[in-house]
Amino acid sequence: MMPEPVRPRARLYVDHPLGAGQAVPLEPAQAHYLFVVLRLETGTQVALFNGRDGDWLAEITRRDKRGGALACSAQTAPQRAGPDLWLLFAPIKKARTDFIVEKAVELGATRILPVQTRFTNSERIRRDRLQAHAVEAAEQCGASTVPEVAGLERLDRVLAGWDPTRRILWADEGRAGGTEGLGALPRGPWAVLIGPEGGFAEAERAQLAALDCVTPISLGPRILRADTAAVAALTLWQAHLGDWK
Ligand code: SAH
Repeated sequence: MMPEPVRPRARLYVDHPLGAGQAVPLEPAQAHYLFVVLRLETGTQVALFNGRDGDWLAEITRRDKRGGALACSAQTAPQRAGPDLWLLFAPIKKARTDFIVEKAVELGATRILPVQTRFTNSERIRRDRLQAHAVEAAEQCGASTVPEVAGLERLDRVLAGWDPTRRILWADEGRAGGTEGLGALPRGPWAVLIGPEGGFAEAERAQLAALDCVTPISLGPRILRADTAAVAALTLWQAHLGDWK
């Protein structure tokens, strides 16, 4: 009889090579999660990914107060390369910014860039916290990589140094309710840009409008909050060019 397929009790991102027989040490926070929160014993199977080697099944081989180790047994999925989609957004209140990062990971963003705009209310972000949210979201949703959360940068500087081969889908509240369709979007690397609660300033609109690689779009007749707009724009892009088909 075939053995029952093992359902891993947890899925963890590790910054460590994965391969048959490979031993993987646990970070203290991961050990805490597996042994204190989930109360897993040695011999239990968990799933691992590192953004390079696909998904692996691994068994808990050591369990201590502050650490532990796993041993990889079998690859369960090869590394998958998703579409190349970045998210640029102006940070808003803490819980809503956390939401944006989490949803961006679930919707397949490959890099997350917080940008400071003229009307951005929050001048600082906790990058480590946002990166930890991205790790958690990737673990939970089965993504095979964890997008990098970049440090906060001024939008005008980001645009001044922009590589024009990456197109920008600009959610432009000035077009809300417009009747122009989206049209055909060319394939290739893209970024979605979402503004702050205060919207974009005139100078920012002018800088964006002057760039050939920018496609302004409407997200419908209603003005969405920035967190909703991020989800809507990423979804719209995925439906046109993404890995949903
Ligand atoms: N205070 C602004 C709205 C900002 S909404 C105003 O009243 O005009 C926050 C961001 O979400 C915007 O900068 C834009 O990027 C996006 N957004 C919200 N609703 C939108 C819509 N209907 N069309 C396009 N973008 C929208």
